[in-house]
Amino acid sequence: MTVKCPDCQKEVLVSGDAEVGEIIECENCGAEMEIVSLDPPRVLLIEEEK
Ligand SMILES: [Zn+2]
Repeated sequence: MTVKCPDCQKEVLVSGDAEVGEIIECENCGAEMEIVSLDPPRVLLIEEEK
């Protein structure tokens, strides 16, 4: 399945055995996001502190 990156709006592949709370990374922009729901798939962008 895929989710839409909240940052760049590109589709990001989520592995089939992903779990809520797992951190995935957008291959397009490198943003990290936490899976908050699987059905429907939803992610929350993790804001990096700089
Ligand atoms: Zn992205």
